[in-house]
Amino acid sequence: MVMLLSAETLPVNQFLNMATARDRKAGDKLYKEGRATLLRADGHNATLRVDDGQQTHECVFQLLPTRQVSAACTCTPAYTWSFCQHRVAAVLALHDYLAEHPPSMWRAVLEEATRPTTRRGVAASQAAIVFNLDVTHGNWSVVPYTLAARYIPPGTRRDRDSLVDFIQQKGLQREARPLSQRVSPNAYPQVAPEAIAAANLALTANNSYSGYYGYGSSSNTSSRSLDDTILALLSHCVVFSGSAAEPLQQRCGCAARRANSNSS
Ligand SMILES: [Zn+2]
Repeated sequence: MVMLLSAETLPVNQFLNMATARDRKAGDKLYKEGRATLLRADGHNATLRVDDGQQTHECVFQLLPTRQVSAACTCTPAYTWSFCQHRVAAVLALHDYLAEHPPSMWRAVLEEATRPTTRRGVAASQAAIVFNLDVTHGNWSVVPYTLAARYIPPGTRRDRDSLVDFIQQKGLQREARPLSQRVSPNAYPQVAPEAIAAANLALTANNSYSGYYGYGSSSNTSSRSLDDTILALLSHCVVFSGSAAEPLQQRCGCAARRANSNSS
């Protein structure tokens, strides 16, 4: 499962134990007086404002890829271990909010994956999106590539087999460019929604995990489930295997599945 910030995953007691008795009492009072207000929250981050009667401070809670939750307050330097009264009030208020508004896992995954990155009115591209599965030293990573419309005959774009044949026959591997930014479904109306979602999730995963670990070696459950989501989506996409230097060499049908089972 992709992990989200929720009433269950917010380690309230652990945080409260990090406060001195004095701050805990003061924070509890601020909380009961309703001085902690939620400013914004999504599946991974939450920001609250706390008015301690003298000043207002902002407390930011963040779900890290390690599944831990970090908590920072503008009143103290980031390295201070002890938990201030603002964070005590904020974590209690945030817990109430999350208990009343449990996050929806699938909505979060799909919103994140298909969120348009460009404004409306973006020119629709007829380019294709294909994927390269790179398996090196037992780790694997997926890199989405785009192939400009001018290389692809119109009838080929929606048919995966013809697209694969065409790329291989014409040696178009060199013309494909790795995607570096999230793509909007509006910008690629010819591309299946699964491919848009897979491309955006792969970019997210590449940024968060594979710098050091690759997906396959990751032992943490949240990235595991991201792997599984990407692999499930890839079954609807055009996937090749290859290296970063020589991508898109061979079509892979079941390679993604194999790479996944090797890693577990
Ligand atoms: Zn504080």
